[in-house]
Amino acid sequence: MKYKIAVIMGDGIGPEIVKGGLDVLDRVGTVFGHTFSYDFVDAGGVSIDKNGVPLTDEALRICQQADSVLLGAVGGPKWDTLPGHLRPERALLGLRKGLGLYANIRPAKIHKEFKAASPLRSEIIDKGFDMVMVRELTGGIYFGERGRRSTSNGEEAYDTETYSEMEIERIARTAFEVAMKRSKKVASIDKANVLESSRLWREVVHKIAKEYPEVIVTDVLVDNMAMQLVKNPSQFDVVVASNLFGDILSDEAAQIVGSIGLMPSASLGYDGKGMYEPIHGSAPDIAGKDVANPIATILSVAMMLRLSFNLEEEAIAIEQAVDKTLKKGYRTRDILDNDSEPISGSKMSSLIREAISK
Ligand code: NAD
Repeated sequence: MKYKIAVIMGDGIGPEIVKGGLDVLDRVGTVFGHTFSYDFVDAGGVSIDKNGVPLTDEALRICQQADSVLLGAVGGPKWDTLPGHLRPERALLGLRKGLGLYANIRPAKIHKEFKAASPLRSEIIDKGFDMVMVRELTGGIYFGERGRRSTSNGEEAYDTETYSEMEIERIARTAFEVAMKRSKKVASIDKANVLESSRLWREVVHKIAKEYPEVIVTDVLVDNMAMQLVKNPSQFDVVVASNLFGDILSDEAAQIVGSIGLMPSASLGYDGKGMYEPIHGSAPDIAGKDVANPIATILSVAMMLRLSFNLEEEAIAIEQAVDKTLKKGYRTRDILDNDSEPISGSKMSSLIREAISK
């Protein structure tokens, strides 16, 4: 099969880690007989320098016409003083909106080799942790009405949490579909004891649950979820949450895993196309030194193959190649847990690439 991928290398470590992802993808193409072609697109700081804006219409058009988008990361101190609408991170909002990406999927899995990296006690983490956070991405308080007004108590600011049935239905369906391919358990996060938007969230999630009778749904209040995640994280499999709750809880889950350089993500829309990126940023402090860990990007490529191209066998081949390489003891500097010498980011990519087989 042939696939066209829009590639945004971005800023900082972006080009280094994306190169690792593309090398792995090329190897998958050779081993499994697929052709991946790449359209390179500027976005973020690099686009500000060339075009004066973080995302041009042309860049967005190329992404819209591709089968999927692979993104490194954008941003850096060079652009930190620009006004909000011109910051590199604006490119991400433009891409999410322009590609209709309403579901963010972040797996958080603890690798056996990295238990020591988790801040949780071993008796908790020994039970395992393998969760997928499904976060609503284009609604809720980040997009609701906001403003400031003067009152007798001085200035007042407000942000509004708004969710429609349609928005909740589609994110709930995404979560149930993910659960059907896993252990058929969904925890739905809300604050239905206080918030009206959460009460609608709960009603709609249970309505959609009727379409998936095999899946067990549990409602968890967000404050309880924050506690349960550190107390007994192994109880969770698929978790679905609003934009705000998902934002906070997915960072908590990332901390449980302990290593940001290992965590991939996908943002999906209606048509199966997606944008795939590591959860970390552009890490300007280590850019250009060939020490950045490419694994989060390489695992994002595996998610692209599975979720957008339906290439399950190929996705597993990448995940197994990562596991094999880590099991052999190879470590980049950020995940070094023994006395051995760290390897470079490019060496890690090439070892993973070589480990890919049918
Ligand atoms: P960051 O994730 O870039 O870095 C945090 C820490 O983790 C740093 O010490 C960094 O060296 C380390 N790190 C990150 N990725 C690593 C990797 N692959 N291998 C080894 N170590 C790694 O977060 P930050 O420093 O808060 O942000 C830096 C810039 O990235 C900012 O401009 C921010 O706005 C931007 N950012 C972009 C995205 C995105 O493009 N999706 C996401 C988050 C932050």
